[in-house]
Amino acid sequence: MAHRRAQTREVHAGSADRPFGAINQPIFTSCTYEYETAHSIGGRYRYGRMASPTRDELEAMMTDLEGGTSAYAFASGMAAIDAVFSLLEPGAHVVAADNLYAETYDLLTGIYPMYGIDVSFVDIRRNEVIADAMCRETALVYFESPTNPLLHIGDIEAAAAIAHDGDAFLAIDNTFASPALQRPLELGADIVVESLTKYIGGHSDAILGSVVVDDPSLEEQLSTIQYTRGAIPGSLECFLAVRGGRTLSRRVEVQCANARAIAEWMEAHEMVDHVYYPGQPNHPNHDIATRQMDDYGAMVSLDLKGGEPAATAFVEALEIFTLAESLGAVESLVEVPALMTHQDIPPEKRAASGISDGLVRLSIGIEHVDDLIDDIRQGLQAVELGEHD
Ligand code: PLP
Repeated sequence: MAHRRAQTREVHAGSADRPFGAINQPIFTSCTYEYETAHSIGGRYRYGRMASPTRDELEAMMTDLEGGTSAYAFASGMAAIDAVFSLLEPGAHVVAADNLYAETYDLLTGIYPMYGIDVSFVDIRRNEVIADAMCRETALVYFESPTNPLLHIGDIEAAAAIAHDGDAFLAIDNTFASPALQRPLELGADIVVESLTKYIGGHSDAILGSVVVDDPSLEEQLSTIQYTRGAIPGSLECFLAVRGGRTLSRRVEVQCANARAIAEWMEAHEMVDHVYYPGQPNHPNHDIATRQMDDYGAMVSLDLKGGEPAATAFVEALEIFTLAESLGAVESLVEVPALMTHQDIPPEKRAASGISDGLVRLSIGIEHVDDLIDDIRQGLQAVELGEHD
């Protein structure tokens, strides 16, 4: 059969095994399943924490979209990331990005050191820095690309070669790109982890995450971690993520086009000090983004002249953009990472990684782009007029 494009695969991906010829896999709420005989323990469905048809549907979809051999759904993106780190043995060393989602940073600095895991945080934009940080104990190289919130891009293919040279795995957090734009396993990564709360779910109504691998040696361990730790998503969440996945590329196409126009508009504005957006030719990692992504994503960050006071006045003046954490859904959101998503990171570490106190992060939705630009224009005018005083 001819190769099918993402838009087609998203609509049809999932299990072929749906009851009654149903087009959508039902929301199975049963926690337990009847044994045919006392000896029929080999059945796929025994107890809902181990497997359920609704979760199977989502895992089949994620396997297909990320191009892996198996997927594991978790109760949140963080539970999925935690599952990846729990593959590590005591004494293992991790090379991780110095710009990470705050809770991932917290896991690596606050929880995993208790289990004897050591971490080096590095600038993943520089392959030689990743290579220099590798040591005999390095078991995992881990980063987001694009990163949250600075939109750094790591060269996934090069990082995979460095990791594999040192007998380590490469795991990529694909939350900011989603498989609509980037498929890390195809670029050589061993593990792709993501928050499905964002682009896959797409409607800010379900929290869950997934791990997808194409290395059979990881499958048994991940499956054991999933059902013994038990951080599984409920069936309603799985259903909503599958429903979101059906329109992933169609939404992301519009979101990326909106983001491109907004980044260009802001780049030219005199009140904007810096725009962070991998689609700009002057973005330091533009070439790598062009090589490894199908488009540049729908996240745009910016520094305003006037620092934090200007930033807070701006985000509070916006009317269409909602001041809220999270990203990736149909509605546009805005936040100040230093005050919101990244507040847990010590200020000096935040500053060292390049996150200024006034950095503003925009998650661009599917609204009409002219309305979004009008909103940003009036937000900047409000700052200029000092309406925040
Ligand atoms: N990874 C990234 C890059 C994120 O931005 C987030 C949340 O914002 C997560 C992981 C965690 O996802 P969740 O909130 O679903 O646990």
